[in-house]
Amino acid sequence: MPRPLRVAVVGAGPAGIYAADALLKSAVAEDPGVSIDLFERMPAPFGLIRYGVAPDHPRIKGIITALHQVLDKPQIRLFGNVDYPGDISLDDLRSFYDAVIFSTGATADRALDIPGIDLDGSYGAADFVSWYDGHPDVPRTWPLEAEKVAVLGVGNVALDVARILAKTADELLPTEIPPNVYDGLKANKALEVHVFGRRGPAQAKFSPMELRELDHSPNIEVIVDPEDIDYDDGSIATRRGNKQADMVAKTLENWAIRDVGTRPHKLFLHFFESPTEILGENGEVTGLRTERTALDGTGNVKGTGEFKDWDVKGVYRAVGYLSDELPKLPWDLASGTVPDKAGRVIEESGEHLQSTYVTGWIRRGPVGLIGHTKGDANETVASLLDDRENGRLSTPSAPDPEAVDAFLDERNVRYTTWDGWYRLDAAEKALGELEGRERVKIVEREDMLRASGA
Ligand SMILES: Cc1cc2nc3c(=O)[nH]c(=O)nc-3n(C[C@H](O)[C@H](O)[C@H](O)COP(=O)(O)OP(=O)(O)OC[C@H]3O[C@@H](n4cnc5c(N)ncnc54)[C@H](O)[C@@H]3O)c2cc1C
Repeated sequence: MPRPLRVAVVGAGPAGIYAADALLKSAVAEDPGVSIDLFERMPAPFGLIRYGVAPDHPRIKGIITALHQVLDKPQIRLFGNVDYPGDISLDDLRSFYDAVIFSTGATADRALDIPGIDLDGSYGAADFVSWYDGHPDVPRTWPLEAEKVAVLGVGNVALDVARILAKTADELLPTEIPPNVYDGLKANKALEVHVFGRRGPAQAKFSPMELRELDHSPNIEVIVDPEDIDYDDGSIATRRGNKQADMVAKTLENWAIRDVGTRPHKLFLHFFESPTEILGENGEVTGLRTERTALDGTGNVKGTGEFKDWDVKGVYRAVGYLSDELPKLPWDLASGTVPDKAGRVIEESGEHLQSTYVTGWIRRGPVGLIGHTKGDANETVASLLDDRENGRLSTPSAPDPEAVDAFLDERNVRYTTWDGWYRLDAAEKALGELEGRERVKIVEREDMLRASGA
């Protein structure tokens, strides 16, 4: 009797879940069917939606509801708290599945090579994000003693970091933030947050909506210096060709010409300031040095030789995320991704690493919104199905689904399941109900495992 197509998906973030959805919606989902197991190193699924998207973005966090419906399908199983390759290796996966899709995303900060980057008080945005989003693997406290802080970068993550630093703890209390994060933010002394971009308003990578949202807080005064509004031919072409860039530039222009109000926390958006050094004394941040830049006609900038020191005591670099290299898979060091063609993992020889696929940020690099991972997953799944159609998939030696449970049990892996997520979800909602909130996140891994019934 023909058996279902067996697929492992490593990484239960949006890309992995969309890939599972695409498989279920494909022709193979009909008899004899497809059977998918998702392996996730965290006890809970949903990737950066749970551990990246800011807590004051409940609408985006709500995408979990749609992904939840996918994971509710009986053809999908979740094995949480299972690490690749620590708990299950590529050879193990090959023995159980016809194909393996890696969708492990990105979790770390991209490096910024300027002097002083290792001083105390210099932080990566990803670490701060993990802290305020209640990630179990980061410390429970965060030093927030600085009255003036800098955020380096002009993308949405920089906006998230700046907004969380500038809001009050009580503004964030109605969200799902756990008690340790509320207490940490309550002690936050930041009165001024300075965001720095090397280039101009037309080159900022903000989404228009995220940018405008900065101005919605009753505690944050957003300030743009009129001298930072400048365009060259390249910038004008960018604005003409990109509606989003044009909207961002218009918002910044409006903010540059208005009077500065009296809201207590000041959030400055600086352009044409390139960070050249984090200044320090006794190993601690005492300031930031930037070089003024000027447009060169093409939308790029060059240094002017004019330097300025800012007396900030904390510096957050939000210059991009970086994926972890995946053992046993080829790796492109420059882009920090697994090399692929249409989702098929490509070895150095140019050959497809049989039955192995990638999707999401580990494939394309850490750019783009959650919605973008859907089209990406569809393309990867189309390649996988084409390989199946043409007999190019390998044959597993133990395709019986129960063999996977037995394998993990034998290795004493404390895995969580989809039913476990229901229990954790209910426990977090119950904690929220006690405080009139929708949810309060459980942070400790052990507590998550216990609540999941692992
Ligand atoms: C700070 C921040 C805020 C964002 N805010 C928004 C927003 O407001 N709106 C929006 O649309 N997009 C937002 N994004 C972008 C969005 O999060 C990404 O587009 C999306 O999460 C990428 O999906 P992914 O599945 O490829 O990766 P991820 O979401 O990173 O998921 C990867 C999963 O793989 C797991 N994993 C990793 N390594 C292993 C391993 N070795 N073994 C097992 N499992 C593993 C991870 O734990 C994770 O669950 C934000 C991103 C960041 C960083």
